[in-house]
Amino acid sequence: MRSSDLTSEEGTQAKGLVVHGHRRKWSPPSPYPLKVGLRGMVGVLRRTANGTAVAPRNPDSLRADKIAFGLGLGSALPTTEGQVDVLIVGAGPAGLMLANWLSRTGLSTRIVDKRGTKIFNGQADGLQCRTLEIFDSFDFAHRVWRESNHMLEICLWNPDENGQIRRSDRIPDTIPGISRFQQVVLHQGRIERFFLDSIKKHSDIDVERGVLPTAFDFDDSKAADFNDYPITVTLRTLSEEDAMPQQQYQHQKTADGQSIASDGLFRSNLTADDTDDLVRAAETNARADQVESVKAKFLVGCDGAHSWVRQQLGFKLEGDSTDYIWGVLDIIPVTDFPDIRQRCAIHSASAGSVMVIPRENKLVRLYIQLQATEHAQGGGKADRSRITPDMILQSAQRILHPYKLTYSYCDWWTAYQIGQRVGDQFSLHERVFLAGDAVHTHSPKAGQGMNVSMQDTYNLGWKLAHVLKGYSEGSLLKTYQSERRRIARDLIEFDHRFSRLFSGRPAKDVMDEEGVSMEEFKNAFEKGNEFASGIAVNYGASVIVAKEGDSAEQGDGTDVRTQESHRVVSKPQLATAIPVGKRMPSFKVLNQSDARPWHLQELLKSNGRWRIIVFAGQLTAPQNMQRMKQLGARLGAPSSFLHQYTPAGQPIDSVIEILTIHAGPRTSLELLDLPEAFHPYSEQQGWDYWKVFVDDQSYHEGHGQAYMNYGIDPSRGASLIIRPDQYVSWVGEVDDYDEMARFFSGFMKPQTAGKEVDAA
Ligand SMILES: Cc1cc2nc3c(=O)[nH]c(=O)nc-3n(C[C@H](O)[C@H](O)[C@H](O)COP(=O)(O)OP(=O)(O)OC[C@H]3O[C@@H](n4cnc5c(N)ncnc54)[C@H](O)[C@@H]3O)c2cc1C
Repeated sequence: MRSSDLTSEEGTQAKGLVVHGHRRKWSPPSPYPLKVGLRGMVGVLRRTANGTAVAPRNPDSLRADKIAFGLGLGSALPTTEGQVDVLIVGAGPAGLMLANWLSRTGLSTRIVDKRGTKIFNGQADGLQCRTLEIFDSFDFAHRVWRESNHMLEICLWNPDENGQIRRSDRIPDTIPGISRFQQVVLHQGRIERFFLDSIKKHSDIDVERGVLPTAFDFDDSKAADFNDYPITVTLRTLSEEDAMPQQQYQHQKTADGQSIASDGLFRSNLTADDTDDLVRAAETNARADQVESVKAKFLVGCDGAHSWVRQQLGFKLEGDSTDYIWGVLDIIPVTDFPDIRQRCAIHSASAGSVMVIPRENKLVRLYIQLQATEHAQGGGKADRSRITPDMILQSAQRILHPYKLTYSYCDWWTAYQIGQRVGDQFSLHERVFLAGDAVHTHSPKAGQGMNVSMQDTYNLGWKLAHVLKGYSEGSLLKTYQSERRRIARDLIEFDHRFSRLFSGRPAKDVMDEEGVSMEEFKNAFEKGNEFASGIAVNYGASVIVAKEGDSAEQGDGTDVRTQESHRVVSKPQLATAIPVGKRMPSFKVLNQSDARPWHLQELLKSNGRWRIIVFAGQLTAPQNMQRMKQLGARLGAPSSFLHQYTPAGQPIDSVIEILTIHAGPRTSLELLDLPEAFHPYSEQQGWDYWKVFVDDQSYHEGHGQAYMNYGIDPSRGASLIIRPDQYVSWVGEVDDYDEMARFFSGFMKPQTAGKEVDAA
């Protein structure tokens, strides 16, 4: 059975272990002398340039018990051998986002997960507006939008002078106008379903369930050649039983007594990490002869907070030594609390705080911080047997007093332990990468976990594809760590500030210095809203972001500078409301040829293309039309960078697409007045009518006022370069062909041998 054949009826737990069909496509079994991992060793040997094996960076990852459990499997063990461009370990949100990107590229990709099924309910649920924009660029935001609960208002509840809670404020949940989407909630299981459907639609990539890596080898001498396979991973298959750890079914109260509710404890990190046990089980179970040695060009560890891949690399999570235990309860509430269908942050005078998140299907989630434990002191795992849904409920009842709260239906509950930590490195030689919870962990309050994890691999996916396809130099991949580790650090800082304010006791009065001022809390909530929306992400200067300043300072310290001869700096004054480094904001424009209104972002699909958006200004002004003719002539010339970066035989817009938005009126221009570069022609399909747009009044949806909202002067215009992930790389003059060419020459590889690129 293919994993993606699992029914979309997520209410029913899938029973069978999903064994991957994908492996069939790889080489037939052959006796393959395993170099590492032969005896079940869990660990890494890294190979140096002269071929000598060296010890792992982190000796802890080769603990004796891990090395010693060899089972005497001889070198004649039947082993399948395979090769793959990208091997992804972990099919949570981060792994699935990456598989989804790669499903659109035709590159060979495999994704394995130690669990026998996806998750079906609970776990992360908040989706930022930026995440919805990304989903829309992959064409499945509408499914989330329809099923999710939309969160529009946040109510703040605090103690009054008598110590009784009362509503003290209401603020919008998403800053109005920040995005065409607002924050919503839908459980992680559904998000994973949408990814699986999208991946299936575009490729034959299957999540290989019940499969885990048991050994890893990295050959340093092959790291610099992106056509080579420096990574070797041994994969083994788990038994059905091992791949499906038992959930505890309990704690659902019904009129006729107890019946089943799923808990998330089997996935919770309060349960000891079972990876080592699973590795042993994979060695001994009936499928132990299913050993596969996979050679990969890239390996991406999306394997969660306990990341096996991270351990193999010897990379560390750095940060606070305190772990917080969070209790999470998804119930249909029976209550007289008036704001139960709003997102609420409730601080009681002395019983603690609760976050209320209204959800889909009448559900409400309660988040309560239960206790703190010092991680540094012996790993400090809390005693999970003490944490029950009743305990979480009773805490909520104390905080909500005098309002009543109870339930008869509990959909899911968990308790999980979380610290605020960031990985010290996100990549080994830009060939092995870590993403998601594998490199950052923090509290669930601001609903960031799943979002930031998916956005890590959204950042990485197109970069891997461009390097693998030979469009870009490998140096492009350095920007992953520079951009995403910086974001992770910002996130942890935000979480620190927010946690103190959320979990602290409210101040009794202005003299109470230890208490949290509720005014301060409200201000932080409002300011934090932009960060929490995901829209605040602002990537620093680098080879792919042309702005002033020091790239190491603006990133995580990684060197992602452009060589001086290729350096281009934007002219932000030409588009004052389009910050370079942030994602392209969206306003409505009309198609020149058929008058249909589009949100600009809808034109920026995640299909791996760079885009140049030419805001041509008013084309009724002869000098503006003249500039377009000149720019069109240079872009259209066979020696232009556009032609040089497009592989032979592919459409001219397949690597860099040109979109034009003129300032109107629509009726003042005919499409064919513009040079062909702005509406390419093909013998089979005629002119391309979906490249030229106008900022004008639509018949039914008003006027997008794009020029005004983007801060672009219609008499002057501007040109923009937009990355394949919708972030703004460069802003310059409409016809500054030379600057555009210089920008791309900093990291792109000409596809046409023997011809000089017409760059400055
Ligand atoms: C119990 C629990 C409750 C949570 N509740 C909330 C919440 O209420 N709100 C919130 O915002 N966030 C919550 N989170 C965090 C949120 O789920 C994560 O931030 C998010 O899922 C991160 O995505 P990821 O893909 O990086 O990692 P994960 O979702 O953890 O996915 C990792 C995947 O890798 C697989 N894997 C792990 N090790 C291996 C291995 N060695 N080999 C093969 N596969 C492996 C796992 O089976 C899993 O499918 C919760 C997390 C947990 C564990």
